[in-house]
Amino acid sequence: MQGEKINMQVTVKDSYEEMCSYAAEEIANAINSHKGTRPFVLGLPTGSTPIGVYDALVKMHKEGKLSFKNVVTFNMDEYVGLPENHPESYHSFMKRYLFDHIDIPRENINILDGNAENLKEECRRYEEKIKAAGGVDFFMGGIGVDGHLAFNEPGSSLDSRTREMPLEEDTRKVNSRFFDNDVNQVPKTALTVGIGTVCDARRVMVLASGKNKAHAVYQSVKGPVSTQWTCSALQNHANSMMLCDKEAASEL
Ligand code: PGA
Repeated sequence: MQGEKINMQVTVKDSYEEMCSYAAEEIANAINSHKGTRPFVLGLPTGSTPIGVYDALVKMHKEGKLSFKNVVTFNMDEYVGLPENHPESYHSFMKRYLFDHIDIPRENINILDGNAENLKEECRRYEEKIKAAGGVDFFMGGIGVDGHLAFNEPGSSLDSRTREMPLEEDTRKVNSRFFDNDVNQVPKTALTVGIGTVCDARRVMVLASGKNKAHAVYQSVKGPVSTQWTCSALQNHANSMMLCDKEAASEL
């Protein structure tokens, strides 16, 4: 990942709502202008931040402006060992906020199986499936307070591929808000696409909202490309954008 440093595009919106409608418009335009015989391939995140984007996409679908019939999705990550039907699994999250409300064919949805008997094989299979689908056209992502992109915690190699990763104590604490504020209920590892997997996408858009993301945004956009802030790898991507609300952009 030592290539020439290209600056990441930064787009700042006044509010969370404006940021989400902008992201949804970008995704809808990309889907609607997709040409060719293979389906459009969309990479998707979970977390609090993308919920407003999913709401906006569902609304567009209900208004007849957007169909997902010719879309294949790949989610970024999933907890290891959490039952698929647990309300906080990313399988459940995606159904709740997006898949139950749109016309995507069920067989076009791909989410890592954190309960697979052979997790290594599951990760290998996922990478192969992305390739076979033609690669990701548009990856939407979120960013952690520690700069993680998907579950690529600080120290992750910038050319990493899909694999099992231990979760940082801080990440587990932040996510414990979804698990009765009990960190012990938060799984200790997750399967995640790698930084290399995300960077292979033709276009990447990372969403950041709120003051608590401001330093991670600063490090990712203005800091050196470094495994300490894994999102900074996108500085080497030819078509990447950090999409922020005002608070998240406050250290830039
Ligand atoms: P959040 O998570 O949207 O819930 O802040 C982002 C992330 O940790 O990647």
